[in-house]
Amino acid sequence: MALIVQKYGGTSVGSTERIRNVARRVAHYRKQGHDVVVVVSAMAGETNRLLGLAKELSERPDPRELDVIAATGEQVTIGLLAIALQEMGVPARSYTGGQVRILTDDAYTKARILEIDESRMRADLKAGKVVIVAGFQGVDKDGNITTLGRGGSDTSGVALAAALKADECQIYTDVDGVYTTDPRIVPEARRLDTITFEEMLELASQGSKVLQIRSVEFAGKYLVKLRVLSSLDDPESNAPGTLITFEEDDKMEQAIISGIAFNRDEAKISVMGVPDKPGIAYAILGPVAAANLDVDMIVQNIGASGHTDFSFTVNRNEYQKTLDVLSAARGKNFEAREIIGDNRIAKVSVVGIGMRSHVGLASKMFKALADEGINIQMISTSEIKIAVVIDEKYLELAVRVLHKAFELEQGG
Ligand code: ASP
Ligand code: MG
Repeated sequence: MALIVQKYGGTSVGSTERIRNVARRVAHYRKQGHDVVVVVSAMAGETNRLLGLAKELSERPDPRELDVIAATGEQVTIGLLAIALQEMGVPARSYTGGQVRILTDDAYTKARILEIDESRMRADLKAGKVVIVAGFQGVDKDGNITTLGRGGSDTSGVALAAALKADECQIYTDVDGVYTTDPRIVPEARRLDTITFEEMLELASQGSKVLQIRSVEFAGKYLVKLRVLSSLDDPESNAPGTLITFEEDDKMEQAIISGIAFNRDEAKISVMGVPDKPGIAYAILGPVAAANLDVDMIVQNIGASGHTDFSFTVNRNEYQKTLDVLSAARGKNFEAREIIGDNRIAKVSVVGIGMRSHVGLASKMFKALADEGINIQMISTSEIKIAVVIDEKYLELAVRVLHKAFELEQGG
């Protein structure tokens, strides 16, 4: 018998019919003898609707009141799920974040969890009840309602699993696991049985939006075993989903590359003809950092006749702002011949922990792209990933040829 925390997202509880389906799944786990704690999101679209109401009344609503409003979405779904379970003869009790006492700081709309009191949940589990907890919310030390930031129910699920030392935290969503790449681009993409925590972080940060990245980091910190599963399958199907592991040994027999990640949310900026001297990177990126703009890849060319070119990528929706910051800093912090940018780029990465012990993967990647005439504009590498920036119009082609080059459709 195991203790399982199950988290269901907005689509999974998007209608009473779907909530009944969730209840069936919970009942199925119970029948197998497991203790179950369920964390739910608000019904799909509901948080947006609630926050939209506040925006109708004010351009800059008080964050404390926004949290009071937004937290109601989850309060509805916990009650509905409890009723659906009781209707099936399964004893269940719902709790808001404040009732459990999920203690957070007081950073409204983006609060961080400080402490979770497990005593009420433990008592209910002991009495044979299913415990249902509202995701996305907590309470500060003065009793104010707080929320954890959009998508925060994933974090609630992982945090509860950590506090309860659950055997597994199951994240139910509308896909049945983590794939080698987006199946909408590569129909042969395969569901992975396991992926390591580090690989998942790479895939999540690269835009496979299966899991909120903060929740993955949280799981890593507290060694919570995460499993991604579909809530749309038959509740009794026992589909395995994808397990996010900490043990690399399990993966040794598998493919060297786990997946192809990509990201269309970036833009490239090049500062051309800057003096090739100490301090130039700081002179350019200092003002960018001071404006709170996140920089991803950075490339500086080898200097020639005392000058060099300096390129980096930023979030696409911060592209214009970054250009503005740089033109304000030019002539003041640094001299440059020209500042140019391109917001029609994409980043494609091959990810895999097996890379650590294998050489020659970069050349395989570059050859596959070269064979299709795809020009690489920037390259960056880490122990477990090689990422390139290319023209956005070749993104889908690049993902397809890389998926094929690394034989990801075959399961290693
Ligand atoms: N309901 C919240 C949101 O839409 C939290 C969540 O779904 O994870 O952001
Ligand atoms: Mg979500």
